[in-house]
Amino acid sequence: MEKRRILTGDRPTGKLHLGHYVGSIQNRVRLQHEYECFFIIADLHTMTTQPEKHYIEAIAGNTRELVLDYIACGIDPDVSPIYLQSAVHEVYEMNLLFEMLVTVPRLQRIPSLKDMARSAELTEMPFGLLGYPILQAADILMPRAHLVPVGKDNESHVELTREIARRFNYLYGEVFPVPDVMVGEVGSLMGTDGSAKMSKSLNNAIYLSDSPKTVEKKVMSMYTDPNRVRADIPGRVEGNPVFVYHDAFNPDREEIADLKERYRKGAVGDVEVKQKLVGALNAFLDPIRERRERAAEISGYVDEVIYEGTLKARQEAGETLQLMKKAMGLSGVWNKISRKAEKARKSRSS
Ligand code: ATP
Ligand code: MG
Repeated sequence: MEKRRILTGDRPTGKLHLGHYVGSIQNRVRLQHEYECFFIIADLHTMTTQPEKHYIEAIAGNTRELVLDYIACGIDPDVSPIYLQSAVHEVYEMNLLFEMLVTVPRLQRIPSLKDMARSAELTEMPFGLLGYPILQAADILMPRAHLVPVGKDNESHVELTREIARRFNYLYGEVFPVPDVMVGEVGSLMGTDGSAKMSKSLNNAIYLSDSPKTVEKKVMSMYTDPNRVRADIPGRVEGNPVFVYHDAFNPDREEIADLKERYRKGAVGDVEVKQKLVGALNAFLDPIRERRERAAEISGYVDEVIYEGTLKARQEAGETLQLMKKAMGLSGVWNKISRKAEKARKSRSS
């Protein structure tokens, strides 16, 4: 039996952080052999809020960093293609065809789009940003994926993809599986400042490629329980980012239980809790850093990975687009007209 498929990816806006890891990357690494995976570098999606030329010029560099992060985390590009969205032109076509199946009020109800507009300081919603989840649906349906591992903020987008797949199949016949969403163990990892989401733009992120010293600096200045002005005051463990990170990245469960117990009683200082976290994070990141360094040393390797992956994605996209147009009867329209035209031309010239 053929393997079921996964589609997921990231926008090339910078390096990956711990939030990306627990939200989505961890599931990708875990499932890469069980599923046939396609990993997208969603550069067209960056243009929904950043269409200016200097942002476009930054895409190639950011893409290379992202792919290094993937390889560092253990994604094997020999097994799964990693591809550049903007170089697969069929996706632009699919996007337009799917736009016909979605209403504007449906898109306006998606909360993440308003958040994105706000954080990009846009006073009015760009048409392309409103269509962000439709383009994402085109990405997911391009390889006819069954499963989409993403963070919590992307759940509503996959829901729209499901609706589009169902509507397409209803109108034109079964072409697409209705894909399931899979949210990571920590659907939305907090920032080091205690805000709800670790994010590049909020300056509250620990990157997978941060040096041990940088990790130490970031952790030692992390937000904890603001009411705990002295180490002998009982502290809150729930929703405290230091413990959230311990839970997510420290494999020593006994150490965590002990720290939590003492923290609640006011019998441990923040410094000790943080130092143990620095140790755990650096132990987690060390092999990632090593693999990243090794991959970065091979000249041209990352570009080859993207090149090969994109060729494979194009092949797949061509097949899906053909299936779509055939099901819709859209290829038939042109076929009829062109056949008749060629016949007419021939009979006139003979
Ligand atoms: P950032 O906000 O740091 O710029 P992003 O949200 O723009 O990151 P995307 O490329 O949009 O990054 O998302 C990549 C994937 O990572 C998505 O599946 C998203 O849900 C997930 N993700 C991003 N940030 C977090 C987080 N803090 N916790 C869990 N998952 C996250
Ligand atoms: Mg996002």
